[in-house]
Amino acid sequence: MYRTHNCGELRLQHIGKTITLAGWVQKVRKMGSITFVDLRDRYGITQLLFNEQLNTLLDTQPIGREFVLQIKGNVLERSSKNNKLPTGEIEIEVTDYLILNASATPPFTIEEETDGGDELRMKYRYLDLRRPTLKRNLELRYKVNRSVRNYMDSMGFWDIETPYLINSTPEGARDFLVPSRMNEGQFYALPQSPQILKQLLMVSGYDRYYQIVKCFRDEDLRADRQPEFTQIDCEMSFVEQEDVLNMFEGLFKHVFKDVKGVEIVDAFPRLTWADAMWNYGNDKPDIRFEMKIKNLKEKNNTHCQVLKHTDFKVFNDAETILAICVPNSSEYTRKQTDELTEWCKRPQIGMTGLIFVKCNTDGSYKSSVDKFFNEAKLQELAAFCNAKTGDLILILAGNENRTRKAMSELRLEMGNRLNLRNPDEYKPLWVIDFPLFEYDDEGKRWNACHHPFTSPKPEQIHLLDKANMYGEIKANAYDIVLNGTEIGGGSIRIHQRALQEQMFAALGLSKSEAQEKFGFLLGAFEYGAPPHGGIAFGLDRLCSLLGGQETIRDFIAFPKNNSGRDVMLEAPSTIDNKQLIELGLEVKHR
Ligand code: ASP
Repeated sequence: MYRTHNCGELRLQHIGKTITLAGWVQKVRKMGSITFVDLRDRYGITQLLFNEQLNTLLDTQPIGREFVLQIKGNVLERSSKNNKLPTGEIEIEVTDYLILNASATPPFTIEEETDGGDELRMKYRYLDLRRPTLKRNLELRYKVNRSVRNYMDSMGFWDIETPYLINSTPEGARDFLVPSRMNEGQFYALPQSPQILKQLLMVSGYDRYYQIVKCFRDEDLRADRQPEFTQIDCEMSFVEQEDVLNMFEGLFKHVFKDVKGVEIVDAFPRLTWADAMWNYGNDKPDIRFEMKIKNLKEKNNTHCQVLKHTDFKVFNDAETILAICVPNSSEYTRKQTDELTEWCKRPQIGMTGLIFVKCNTDGSYKSSVDKFFNEAKLQELAAFCNAKTGDLILILAGNENRTRKAMSELRLEMGNRLNLRNPDEYKPLWVIDFPLFEYDDEGKRWNACHHPFTSPKPEQIHLLDKANMYGEIKANAYDIVLNGTEIGGGSIRIHQRALQEQMFAALGLSKSEAQEKFGFLLGAFEYGAPPHGGIAFGLDRLCSLLGGQETIRDFIAFPKNNSGRDVMLEAPSTIDNKQLIELGLEVKHR
């Protein structure tokens, strides 16, 4: 038997017991004639004491960091207790030890905070995973998984696996392709999601399906994206949007309670997509703080009277003028407003300037556009914005899309600067009534905003005949948003062949293309497809939010870097010629 206990287990009640432990050497501290060693495993750390006699043995058989040891010894009460460690009241007086395996010196410290850079940590991920931070993250992920499974099980959902070697499933990204040896010149596509398969399971009558499943999307990676990521994928039959929202609001409440001990009693707020864009400038608003956007002018409609007749060209020329009122900030110095202006001019934000109005606590107003707006006008503007004394009004003007996006970023930035985005506060909400289509300026065509299987609002189906009205059609689609991050989305699906064909046509697919790509789905819709709908959640992101961290990478055991590489496995890699020949492939460099 390798061990009688684990390294996180022993307490005062075990004093006097003879025990055996096995684990890794965290630290060796030689103190004169005795040596202390911290022994670590997944469960914790236990202090070992090598007395004088054993110490001589340690001279001939030295141990170092990350050696794997088995020790036998007696549990003693510690004279100086460490109340930071669960095992801190005891230590083990070692009577025997065996080096089960030696270790090379690790390339970085295996501690809470490490000196290893990202690439190094990824290359030696198996060592990185020994760090308590990573271990806690993976434990949290496991708990989220378990909690999801328990809830879904209690609601009658069946976990059904779907294949990975399939055809293209359009979710708006590029496919990862796998050549088929047995079918020369043909390729599988890895699923961007199990979307179509879960819909087919509804056609088969399985009623409630879920799966915690890998999805693959070949996209340019940002810090928070991975080419393969995990979804909690769900589908239900005979449901309307309301049923789906209620079911999965329940899931979230369950997981928050289970994993974080946070009880969310209230119903999640619901915001239409249009309201989200209007008030927050994006479709995933962080509602932990207010600071809503004031629409002074949008798409050439001037709502704020005082801006109607001005000599200020910037305002006159702008398609859109937006403002936010930043509380308790009217005392911003020149240096601070200059810095903020520079912030808005960064290429990521893309504005040419920032205008501000200070609503001073003495009741006066001061602005960066005093030349064009006297105090009475500034006051009128402030009143339109519902500004309070002490507010700093920040105004951006320009083209609709860019200005709205920039204002959304500025709002979040001010939220950060004012510490209004507390990671321990959870404010989920639903965003509903998304547009069905979005226009792709480059490709000069309409794309599905969610995916092509999403149903339009029934009362707007007739607009599918009128291409000039596509922008007006709303979908039965919804997202769940947590603290400014979209963590899931879904829709009520189309379940009639004719409507699905109409949708494909609207997206520019000819009848034969639709038949070739999705003939099986159109066919299935002829055999009694029930009304159905569902949703999928990003598990990696959900875990990182629950863990209070920015990047999803440290919630994935073996993630890829920003170039989509696994630097430990050195994947992707070239394959040998024989394999290429077998696959009937030849590599041509771009
Ligand atoms: N398949 C969708 C996605 O991956 C989710 C859904 O509509 O259920 O975003």
